[in-house]
Amino acid sequence: MIPFLDLQAQYRTVGEDIEAAVTDVLRSGDYVQGARVAAFERDFAAWCGTQEAVAVSSGTAALHLALLAAGVGPGDEVITVPMTFVATAAAILYTGATPVFVDIDPSTWTMDPVELEAAITSRTKAILPVHLHGRLADMAEIVAVARRHGLVVIEDAAQAHGAERGGRRAGAFGDIGCFSFYPGKNLGACGEGGAVVTDRPELAEQVRLLRDWGQIRRYEHVKLGFNLRMDNVQGAVLRVKLPRLDGWNARRRAVAALYRELLDGAALRLPAPAGEDHVFHVHAVRVDDRDGLRASLEAAGVATGIHYPKPVHLQTGYASLGYGPGAFPEAERMAREALSLPIFPEMTEAQVRTVAAAVRRFTEGARDAA
Ligand SMILES: *Cc1c(COP(=O)(O)O)cnc(C)c1O
Repeated sequence: MIPFLDLQAQYRTVGEDIEAAVTDVLRSGDYVQGARVAAFERDFAAWCGTQEAVAVSSGTAALHLALLAAGVGPGDEVITVPMTFVATAAAILYTGATPVFVDIDPSTWTMDPVELEAAITSRTKAILPVHLHGRLADMAEIVAVARRHGLVVIEDAAQAHGAERGGRRAGAFGDIGCFSFYPGKNLGACGEGGAVVTDRPELAEQVRLLRDWGQIRRYEHVKLGFNLRMDNVQGAVLRVKLPRLDGWNARRRAVAALYRELLDGAALRLPAPAGEDHVFHVHAVRVDDRDGLRASLEAAGVATGIHYPKPVHLQTGYASLGYGPGAFPEAERMAREALSLPIFPEMTEAQVRTVAAAVRRFTEGARDAA
């Protein structure tokens, strides 16, 4: 069986160092938002190329607090995409603001900047592009639109640690960038974690206040805050893993390049060619008979995923936003056609070849049947 991702394979490469770092924390008595978290924040800001990084308890917390720090609240609209994990839209709703969706570009599967500009109203406060699957959204265009309209840009970089264009990394294009360290992400904790990065110290300061009860010093609460701090154990784990992340992302790109070579000419659509701007958190392909391909791979012992089978605007829990089927044809088409193939840094060439061969057997069988 070829797994969709293999966290144990990664643990075998870093486990000893993690266990030593975690043991230090356990013995230290310094458990919440401690010295390891502070050290990780410095390392992660440097790695992202930003002045500041603020660690929080999850990617969802990062989005929620970034929006609050940017002043988003009731009556505001935040423009984002429906082809994302629900956390993107949920975080907007947590602030009391309204998510306004725009469709994705059919080639990059990220926010369409033309649709974005058309959706701006007098209530629009912020733009929240998602670097879906690890590919940077069109940040040059999105930031240009934001500047023309005086809007804040908050990047959902939860899948895109290290995606890079023109020497700048995900999270550093807009005003504030949000990361998740959920275990399966390109940089994963041994539990939950997240961070915001920014070059604007006043935004970092707001997130620091909000994550820790609005305290400027102990028992001095200057605003309503939350308990959304990072555990020191997670800071220790992330600090061990961060120096290896460039190498892991390079491996993901190599797997994607091999898929491209092996699936060349097959009856399916691959992600648009990418360079450093893609870190392949997910490697999706698109086919008309997605469910058929999925079942065929399953039978061949290949696990797959779907990111995502139902866009946020069609989720029952988000029906009150008032969108229906047909509102975002590109996102809806992608939800029907996309299938995510196994990809992880430790994946062997033999595993990639096995997956690609199984995909080709299906697409060639479908063609012969037609
Ligand atoms: C994982 C993810 C989140 C949420 O991060 P958590 O750490 O799970 O809270 C938000 N947005 C996107 C696009 C994600 O993939």
